[in-house]
Amino acid sequence: MTDPAHPAPSGSAWAAVTSALRASRRVLLVLHVRPDGDSIGCSLAVARGLRAIGKQAVVVSPDPIPANLAFLDPDRECVAPDKAAGPFDVALFLDCADLERIGTARTLLGEIPVVINIDHHRSNECYGTVNYVDPDAAACGEVALRLCDALSVPVDARAATALFAALATDTGGFRYGATTAVTLAMASRLRAAGADLALVGHEVWDSRSAGSLRLLAVALNSLGTDGELAWVSLRASDLASSADPGDSEGLVDYPRSLRGVEVAALFAADQPGRVRVSLRSNRRVDVSRLAQAFGGGGHARAAGCTVEGDLETVRNHVLDAARAALQPEGLS
Ligand code: AMP
Ligand code: MN
Ligand code: MN
Repeated sequence: MTDPAHPAPSGSAWAAVTSALRASRRVLLVLHVRPDGDSIGCSLAVARGLRAIGKQAVVVSPDPIPANLAFLDPDRECVAPDKAAGPFDVALFLDCADLERIGTARTLLGEIPVVINIDHHRSNECYGTVNYVDPDAAACGEVALRLCDALSVPVDARAATALFAALATDTGGFRYGATTAVTLAMASRLRAAGADLALVGHEVWDSRSAGSLRLLAVALNSLGTDGELAWVSLRASDLASSADPGDSEGLVDYPRSLRGVEVAALFAADQPGRVRVSLRSNRRVDVSRLAQAFGGGGHARAAGCTVEGDLETVRNHVLDAARAALQPEGLS
């Protein structure tokens, strides 16, 4: 599985990651806030692999697992941070660009001597004692599979399904430009290892709750457009009526799908006085730079930030910045 544009990991950072994990006994794996398929899939697969080579592994999630990703954790092993009984000798972060993205799980870190940070976000802040970031990986799942190989841990059908879900969700079902020949070769290998593609496809994309369908209707009714910019907005009252925090996942893809749109945004007033903003672009604008201007981060085509203020004020600010980014001399 070689690709000159995307070589397998090597170098001192990778050697430090693998030797720290080989030497570990009890590893705490930490998901990011509002965990997605990449975060959950990577951590559950690697935790399973670590156990297969005699390590203890505990997975904590600062937020509940969204209903449409619960199938990845049939044993309900992802626990809230206050349920993780230490001590741990290694903390392992997969798909976490910065420590703010781990929310309440941060309190667990003080006592853990080795913090391994493995990621694929270009904006990663290298907060670990050991850091390995591959911005060319379409999903952190690619690095997680290489980690399993480097540690000689088996990838059984359940781990393969988890890693396949990581790859498939971060690439929008292998549609986004970040998908490489390596991504597809890994997906093929995971399928051969027993990954249940139909289960992933059905659970992730074809099993919506009634709440999420209603929220979709609200979002579509809020559609705003201005040239190459399109957005949808969810008020606090819209979100309060939705049962699952994952219900707003993917809604930003609707304004993004509008023909001629380059930058799409979702504004979700999910807490009093603050708005969660999801940003997407289709071809040109680097929305991670846009998100970073508001204290967030992410990737060139998918990024996000959480901004203090009421829905209308935040929306106006972010849309103004997006309009500037869309100018020929703007962020790209
Ligand atoms: P989302 O729009 O929530 O699906 O997030 C898209 C991408 O942006 C993901 O890669 C996230 O890691 C990143 N992201 C979202 N929100 C934030 C934030 N508040 N800070 C940093 N990165 C974020
Ligand atoms: Mn993620
Ligand atoms: Mn990811």
